[in-house]
Amino acid sequence: MSKVVKFGGSSLADAEQFQKVAKIIHEDEERRYVVPSAPGKRYPKDEKVTDMLYACYAEAEAGEDFLPLLKRIRGRYEEIIEGLRLDLSLEEEFREIEKCFCEKVGKEYAASRGEYLNGLVMANFLGYEFVDAAEVIFFRENGEFDAAYTDEVLSARLKNCERAVIPGFYGATRDGRVKTFSRGGSDITGSIVAKAVRADVYENWKDVSGFLIADPRIIKNPKGIETITYRELRELSYMGASVFHEDAIFPVRQEGIPINIRNTNIPEDNGTWIVGSTCQKSKYVITGIAGKKGFCAVNIEKDMMNSEIGFGRKVLQAFEENGISFEHVPSGIDTMTVFVHQDEFMHKEQKVVAGIHRLANPDSIDIESDLALIAVVGRGMKSTRGTAGRIFSALAHSNVNVRMIDQGSSELNIIIGVADEDFETAIRAIYDIFVITRL
Ligand code: ASP
Repeated sequence: MSKVVKFGGSSLADAEQFQKVAKIIHEDEERRYVVPSAPGKRYPKDEKVTDMLYACYAEAEAGEDFLPLLKRIRGRYEEIIEGLRLDLSLEEEFREIEKCFCEKVGKEYAASRGEYLNGLVMANFLGYEFVDAAEVIFFRENGEFDAAYTDEVLSARLKNCERAVIPGFYGATRDGRVKTFSRGGSDITGSIVAKAVRADVYENWKDVSGFLIADPRIIKNPKGIETITYRELRELSYMGASVFHEDAIFPVRQEGIPINIRNTNIPEDNGTWIVGSTCQKSKYVITGIAGKKGFCAVNIEKDMMNSEIGFGRKVLQAFEENGISFEHVPSGIDTMTVFVHQDEFMHKEQKVVAGIHRLANPDSIDIESDLALIAVVGRGMKSTRGTAGRIFSALAHSNVNVRMIDQGSSELNIIIGVADEDFETAIRAIYDIFVITRL
């Protein structure tokens, strides 16, 4: 049996947090592979080491004096090393980093040092082997992650390794140039390692006890989610729920390895389980609610649209030609609406409208802005009568005007469009009806 444990930046922000992490690891023999992030914030106004590294490298690139900031970064690690009373010097490492910054080797290399150094400290503290991610996680020249080659090399490397620390967030091309995932990418490394060792569980330790049914900035003390499927999570993360990196689901999903999101500061909480499928019913009909503001609806009308073959394709071609992806396309008999991100669409608006006229020759086009989309997600909806009815009566009672409805064919989610200004009221109304009053 083996578990891969990934710890986020705030779980490793200082020596005290390192102690908590070590206690968690030592409590369970199966926690054999550790993936650390770079040190995060110690208090709300603090800086993350990764942000400091990006800033420091920008100074180096601009030919400014970057040494004071590099010294502060070093200070963060030294504070941890002293706090843990480790016999470890990062002298050599920082000399090398300084040299590479002077040579301007690239900002991905710079950012990756946060995890690299934290990995060295962690391995020393735990007495585990250190495996440099640049030797086992591979990217192609174009920056894409090379899953097949990584799995081959990484699983061979960890096969004879009882316990190891593998830093998160980065890897390298086959010729050794360091590359990183997008921000928050240590979650992805954890998932890749879990796949490579065919772990029984991928534990992801953060500073929250898993996922919440709704955004705590909108709902006060929302209830937690005990179990969620990969697909439900995809829907919610796409709509803005951001506890876990979206792309981190794929490697473990292929192997059916469950993910357990846990809280380093409250380890006794069970957290959230993310699984392939489950017969466990969620406590409520819905699993979660998420949403985003800032969408535009492009309404297109044409008499007899319904019988004109290829009309939809021509309209969407106008968006494609301008490099704009669409979110939803609800349609009626003579109308079709395309939902797009306002900030993407704004600058190209007139070009797209001209394109639709040219390609599809509609009767009229009308644009509505400042719309929000809300996804109500739940595997339980399929087998429960009246879910949509409950949502819309709750919204009507709260005086929210529904501008669009789209129920995914999987019956896993219902997407609702409302005005931006109604966004919070709508989420509160939906939360209330399913979680609080449970009518
Ligand atoms: N340290 C990186 C970041 O701040 C990666 C991570 O923490 O997952 O984005």
